[in-house]
Amino acid sequence: MMLDSGLSDLLDLQEVDLAIDRLLHQRQTLPVLAEYQALGGVRDGAAGQLAERHDVLRQSERDLDKAEGELEILENKLKESETRLFAGGMSGRETEQKRLEVQALRGQQTTMESRVLGLIEVVDPLREESKLLNQELARHNEKLATYEAEIASAWAEIDAQIARRETTKADLAKPISADLMILYEQLRRSKQGVAVGRLTGGVCGGCHLSLSLPEQAEATEWDPPRCIHCMRILVL
Ligand SMILES: [Zn+2]
Repeated sequence: MMLDSGLSDLLDLQEVDLAIDRLLHQRQTLPVLAEYQALGGVRDGAAGQLAERHDVLRQSERDLDKAEGELEILENKLKESETRLFAGGMSGRETEQKRLEVQALRGQQTTMESRVLGLIEVVDPLREESKLLNQELARHNEKLATYEAEIASAWAEIDAQIARRETTKADLAKPISADLMILYEQLRRSKQGVAVGRLTGGVCGGCHLSLSLPEQAEATEWDPPRCIHCMRILVL
């Protein structure tokens, strides 16, 4: 019978479609893909942390530069005043004024030196921390690149397998009528990819429920025959 032969082709076609479904599922559930996504999250976290530490570091470096600049100015002023003092030739009042000025400048110098040292103590660990975070980030990026290569190669392999099955599918679909193909595709969408079942020993291959003889007769009243339980196409 023409109908039966067409329906058998449909079963073969469904095998190919199910194989393609499995390959597509495999494509999206590669273990390396999950590892890649998880590590991507870790990397983004590290990048955020690094950016934040960089901001703090930059601000501290600016403060340090400023303090060092101020210290240099103080040192120059001090040198100038001391030179003036050592040169002599000033009145007693002027000399006393200069002496007090030098004393005040020395006090300011000590304060500024402590500030510079304090900032160095802040900047140094921040630089070290940034360096380590940078190294961590580079390690993550390197690992992510190897994952990307693994994924690309696995996908290329899977895609080649899918392409081979698509070719087989196109060949198998040739003798099947357009109407039957539409029904088949509709059923596949609504029934988890299984549109056709073979009736074996009175059991539907789609839903695995039994059909009594009267039910089997009822099934054949449809064109093509349909399981009375699940409405899938039934190959008798
Ligand atoms: Zn069924």
